[in-house]
Amino acid sequence: MYRLTCVYCGEKYRPDEILYTCRKCGHLLAVEYDLSRVSIRPEVWRKRPLSVWRYRELLPVTIPPVTLQEGGTPLYHLKRIGEEIGVPKLYAKHEGMNPTGSFKDRGMTVGVSMALQLGKTTVACASTGNTSASLAAYAARAGIPAVVLLPSGKVALGKVAQALMHGARVISVRGNFDRALEMVQELCTSHGLYLLNSINPFRLEGQKTIGFETIDQLPGVPDRMVLPVGNAGNISAVYKGLLELKTLGLIDRLPMMTGIQAAGSSPVVRAIREGLAEVVPEESPETVATAIRIGAPVNGEKALEAIRKTGGTAAAVTDSEILAMQKDLARKEGIGVEPASAASVAGVRKLVDSGIIDPSECIVCVVTGHLLKDPETVIRQCESPTEIDADLPSLLSALQWS
Ligand SMILES: *Cc1c(COP(=O)(O)O)cnc(C)c1O
Ligand SMILES: [Zn+2]
Repeated sequence: MYRLTCVYCGEKYRPDEILYTCRKCGHLLAVEYDLSRVSIRPEVWRKRPLSVWRYRELLPVTIPPVTLQEGGTPLYHLKRIGEEIGVPKLYAKHEGMNPTGSFKDRGMTVGVSMALQLGKTTVACASTGNTSASLAAYAARAGIPAVVLLPSGKVALGKVAQALMHGARVISVRGNFDRALEMVQELCTSHGLYLLNSINPFRLEGQKTIGFETIDQLPGVPDRMVLPVGNAGNISAVYKGLLELKTLGLIDRLPMMTGIQAAGSSPVVRAIREGLAEVVPEESPETVATAIRIGAPVNGEKALEAIRKTGGTAAAVTDSEILAMQKDLARKEGIGVEPASAASVAGVRKLVDSGIIDPSECIVCVVTGHLLKDPETVIRQCESPTEIDADLPSLLSALQWS
């Protein structure tokens, strides 16, 4: 019902081959369904709960999946922030509401299920944090061991806590994410572990359901979808899924796919701005938004296509713009997200201000991870609690009430 296809040279591979890149040319692989043989009735989809598995006809898993009930995340109207920016139809899909607090769970429910389906018994990844938290949880759910490599000192506290508590073998690498990824790829090749970074084409299949859910919730196709971009897997996945719906005749157009990066870590933005054929890696990416602190995006070539084919764009936002939007989302909308997630909405503000986005558009921002993932960055931005003696006068005086 599906096979693996090289996105560059078109070479086809059997779906049960354990392969992450094309043997002929080294480029990325994608899961390709025979859409003429997929039968989908939207009314059947709508009877199932809103979740990754609502869309199982467009997923590669045939065994009972390893699941923690991922997906089905809320789509919020950003009324106040939308008014401020001047975009009345501004929405946020809160992926922080997934089981481990990020959209990575959508990828891992499919990826870890595929590991079992393919007969693999150990899984591994390199991670800026959320991938490791998610993999650790889904490996625990599946009852198999996980090995995760983290860039030393650059992973938010909540994410490390999750990976440790769910029982993964957590290795801290003295090097950045890009180096940790090279190492885990070598380890997987030499020792037969199943690699679940976003280079894994099956993981992206789960993540594409963000787009499916958005269309069911809105309902309809938004004019634009805006995502923070690190390894660029998520923006590519959402585009791929929506393209499948369009090929099936279930939607009639695609949203303009728009990627937002941090100014200190923005190779995709540069490739779009300068019209480059490929993403040129950055040596030392730096940003407070550690989830998108990535200099060599693995899915760069897929993301450039997603952005260019839909008439989208890419933009960079500074760390202070990211942190200001994190606070706005928290205080003006009640939506708690980690810094990388706020980048998408901060990007909309910037692109509207610079006249690139038409404010009458219907815009869905994907906010990717939960506030509690990175408590240290949060605490640094907020005033400390006021400590008082345990009596009412002290309380009133602290509140400056009389
Ligand atoms: C992984 C992650 C991203 C980046 O997604 P890519 O698919 O790597 O582009 C953004 N935000 C959060 C919170 C993440 O965990
Ligand atoms: Zn190829």
